[in-house]
Amino acid sequence: MGRGVLLRYRDFLPVTSATPLVTLGEGDTPLVRSGSLERELGCGELYFKLEGCNPTGSFKDRGMVVAVAKAVESGSSSVICASTGNTSASAAAYGSRFGLGVTVIVPKGKIALGKLAQAITYGAKIITIEDNFDQALHIVRTLVQKYPITLVNSINPHRIEGQKTAAFEIVDDLGDAPDYLFIPVGNAGNITAYWKGFVEYRQASRASRTPKMMGFQAEGAAPIVKGRIVKKPKTLATAIRIGNPASWHGAVAARDQSGGIIDCTTDDEILAAYKLMASKEGIFGEPASAASLAGLIKMVGQGLRLAGKRVVCIITGTGLKDPQVSLRHVEPIPQLPADLNVIEQTLGWN
Ligand SMILES: *Cc1c(COP(=O)(O)O)cnc(C)c1O
Repeated sequence: MGRGVLLRYRDFLPVTSATPLVTLGEGDTPLVRSGSLERELGCGELYFKLEGCNPTGSFKDRGMVVAVAKAVESGSSSVICASTGNTSASAAAYGSRFGLGVTVIVPKGKIALGKLAQAITYGAKIITIEDNFDQALHIVRTLVQKYPITLVNSINPHRIEGQKTAAFEIVDDLGDAPDYLFIPVGNAGNITAYWKGFVEYRQASRASRTPKMMGFQAEGAAPIVKGRIVKKPKTLATAIRIGNPASWHGAVAARDQSGGIIDCTTDDEILAAYKLMASKEGIFGEPASAASLAGLIKMVGQGLRLAGKRVVCIITGTGLKDPQVSLRHVEPIPQLPADLNVIEQTLGWN
């Protein structure tokens, strides 16, 4: 355990004898069976894949470890990315661990506090811009044309390679692919990667089938659903606040080849799923992660029948990254003197 995705899945990854088998212990994340929502939603079996258990708290580590290993292998001394937060946290961690300089460009004020704290503490060079992720990515793409820096956004194919290992793990845990996979969609690298993983595992006879890919964007940032670029994407789920996904075609291919869908949920639906997942299942995902469960709830509400079906929701990152969303949406918490009587009265216990 803790040997990392490069070693565990090297036969399916671009690993050569010159690739450093670097790891911070990414991958091998829990696939947890639902306690109560499974019955409420009428699923045969419902599982949550807890990608927040990765070293920096999101699935980005799976792809970053491969991208960084290949950067080191090619003799690169620094990496750069645009980020809504988690890519920068992951790049900063793996870069520092393996001796690379890390530069990140993030949209000002639209990055969750925990993610910014990570990038700062891991020692990345951080630039904030007064624009959105799509513009940050555009700038980064231009910079790597001019300077000898490795780009580690998911347009770097090694990122997709690493991220597909999450699909392998699901099949390895369940014994076959599930019937449905619900997943948040932002820049669309992850849905592209999962689909690649499921297809490769079926080709290798490790799975007998592939799941229907059910991707969910946020309503205010749903370019794939609308079929056009969204110039000013809006959602409280900052990790999927993207108006022009780099892997747009990959997401559409995953949808069409799997017989799935790409749809969207409102911020209210995302917030409701975020709370439900925590209060009913004990799972604290970040708001973007809740788009998968919000999507499942929406589909069941629209009549999708899941009796006898195996369903997996990807919980892409930990809720600890973005505590402000949680704290902004609570009832006031009572502040009392340290007085037993008053506390008992307030709790309604006497
Ligand atoms: C990056 C990210 C997403 C979106 O993944 P894409 O590959 O950009 O579609 C969703 N949730 C979290 C927590 C993320 O960090």
